[in-house]
Amino acid sequence: MEEKFGLRALSTGEMLRTAVEDETEIGEQVEKRMASGDLVPDDLIVAMIAERIEEPDCADGVILDGFPRTLPQARMFDEHLAERGMALDLVILFEADDAAMVDRISGRFSCARCGEAYHDTNRPPSREGLCDVCGGHRFRRRADDNPETVRHRLEDYHMLTEPLLPFFREKGILRSVDAMADIGRIARDMESFVAAI
Ligand code: AMP
Repeated sequence: MEEKFGLRALSTGEMLRTAVEDETEIGEQVEKRMASGDLVPDDLIVAMIAERIEEPDCADGVILDGFPRTLPQARMFDEHLAERGMALDLVILFEADDAAMVDRISGRFSCARCGEAYHDTNRPPSREGLCDVCGGHRFRRRADDNPETVRHRLEDYHMLTEPLLPFFREKGILRSVDAMADIGRIARDMESFVAAI
């Protein structure tokens, strides 16, 4: 999607994990909350993303992954964009059931060298302990990708993030994909939504 449409993909979770690894001030503030699966403060995350989208690599548009996650975030970001004559064009809802999400997220891990994504049962490396893509032998698993923390993250999702759906639906920019479908179908649906903007 990045290459095809010239968009820069930004994941707020990834940005925060980098901040934690780099031991920045923000990283120190958020580390404990992230490990326990709690959301980080709205002001902090909106300021972080507002600053990031000013960078030149975001000039042609961005895909935001994991943001906004609460109504205050969505409202603050909306105002921020409006002040700059911009607005969100599209919001994609991935529909999946909770049990499948616990299984998918708790089982996922990635190659520490090239980032290739794997799953304990759905997509293990073809040779145990070796990355199919780069041959690396070190893998990473996120501290918050365990069943207990994932269930907590899902509770927050239902309580704090789902209320965003009517907000975006009223703006006429909400589309949904069946996240239980095969990955090719999901990719085609997403591409057709972006192409229609
Ligand atoms: P993710 O990689 O999107 O699953 O995010 C990992 C963690 O980063 C979350 O569990 C939160 O602690 C934090 N985080 C990421 N994005 C946000 C956001 N928009 N609002 C609050 N916390 C966030």
